[in-house]
Amino acid sequence: MADYADVASTLSEQDLDHALANIKHFDQVSNYECEDCGEAIPEQRRKLGAVTLCIGCQTAFEAKQKHIRG
Ligand SMILES: [Zn+2]
Repeated sequence: MADYADVASTLSEQDLDHALANIKHFDQVSNYECEDCGEAIPEQRRKLGAVTLCIGCQTAFEAKQKHIRG
């Protein structure tokens, strides 16, 4: 079982705000590879803009965000 409390304690409010602000900047260029695992990001997904994570890592990232926020 993942320890989400540990993750939350290592992320400050500022870090979260910064991460969320980045997600909203859809005019930014997407990465060709996932920042987290290095897997290639599909063209279809890159078109969204400001994509830095593959689907798997993005899903895990958002799951953590939801857990922290609510
Ligand atoms: Zn990934």
